[in-house]
Amino acid sequence: MELYTFGKYLRKKFNTIVYKVPVSIPGFTCPNIDGTFGKGGCVFCENESFSPNLKEKGKFKLNLHSKHNPILEKQLKSLETQFKNTTPFLKKRFKAEKFIVYFQSWTNSYAPFDTLKALYEKGLSFDNVVGISIGTRTDSITDETLNYLADLSKKTEVWIEYGIQSSNDETLKRINRGHDFSNVVETITKTKKLNLNICGHLIYGLPGESRKDWEKSFKDTIALNIDSIKFHPMYVTKNTLLAKEYEEGAFTPISQQEYADILIWSIKNLPSHISIQRMTAGVDNLLAPNWCKNKSKQISHIAKRLNKETLS
Ligand code: SF4
Repeated sequence: MELYTFGKYLRKKFNTIVYKVPVSIPGFTCPNIDGTFGKGGCVFCENESFSPNLKEKGKFKLNLHSKHNPILEKQLKSLETQFKNTTPFLKKRFKAEKFIVYFQSWTNSYAPFDTLKALYEKGLSFDNVVGISIGTRTDSITDETLNYLADLSKKTEVWIEYGIQSSNDETLKRINRGHDFSNVVETITKTKKLNLNICGHLIYGLPGESRKDWEKSFKDTIALNIDSIKFHPMYVTKNTLLAKEYEEGAFTPISQQEYADILIWSIKNLPSHISIQRMTAGVDNLLAPNWCKNKSKQISHIAKRLNKETLS
C-alpha cells in the first residue's frame, strides 16, 4: 500500500528534502492548564500540575490577554538557539535542505498577537526556512491571528495543527479536554475558509472508547476537509492523571494489535489528498503500554501489516 506521507508532500512542493524543526517557547502555556478553560490539563498531559520536575514556580506565563511581554527577547533568542542546535543534525542524518519551524509544545497561539507575530516572523527569518507549523487548540486562536496567518500563507508555507483527539463529547469531557467537538468543527471550518493548511491530530485508545468511537472520530475528522493527519496511540506517561487511573485499574491501554488494526483501516479509508504526518509515537517517561516504548519496532510492525495488505 502506497502511503502519502507529509515528507512526500513537502518533497513534491519544494523539490528537495524538507524537515520540521520542533521548538518549545518559554513562557507559553495552555488555557486548559492555567485555569482559563480548565485546570490540570488533558488527563494524558504531562504538565506542572502533576510533574514536580516541570514545576517552574513563579515563572512568567503568557495568555491571550497579557498586556506586556517582558520575556519576548528571551523567547526570540531561545527560538534561534533551538533552531541552530537542531538543524545540523537534520542536515547530516536526513540530508534536509529546507526547514519548517514547528511550534510544538503547549498552545502556540495562546499569547498576545504582537508576541505571536514576532515569534512566527523570527522563525521565518532563519536560513532555509520555507514555512511554519503551529500546534494549538481549536479554542485558543483568535480571528486576528487566523487572518494574519491567512495573509502570511500567500507568501510562505503555513500549517496549523489542531488537537482533535476524538469527536465524542463524552470522551472529551472524560479526558478533561476543556472544549467539545462543536468547537473543533467551528474553528476548523473557519480556518479552512481562509485557505490555511490544517493538520488534525487523533488519538486511538482514549479512556472509555472502542473501535466504533475511533472509526467515528476518523470519519468526523475527514469530513472537516483537513489536509494532513497525525495518528497517536493512547499511551500513559508518568505523573499524569491518566497514570493515576491506570495504576488504579480504571484505564486499560489499547493493545498493539488493536492499534495496528485501526491504523490500517484508517490508512485504507484516508482520502488520497490527505498526507500522513505521524502513524505512532515513541515515548520518554512511559508507564504503559510497553509496546509504545520502541517507535522503530512499532513502525516495522505496522509496515509488515501494510505490506500484507498490499499482497492480499
Ligand atoms: S491541550 Fe495540550 S498542552 Fe493543553 S492540557 Fe491538553 S495536552 Fe496539555
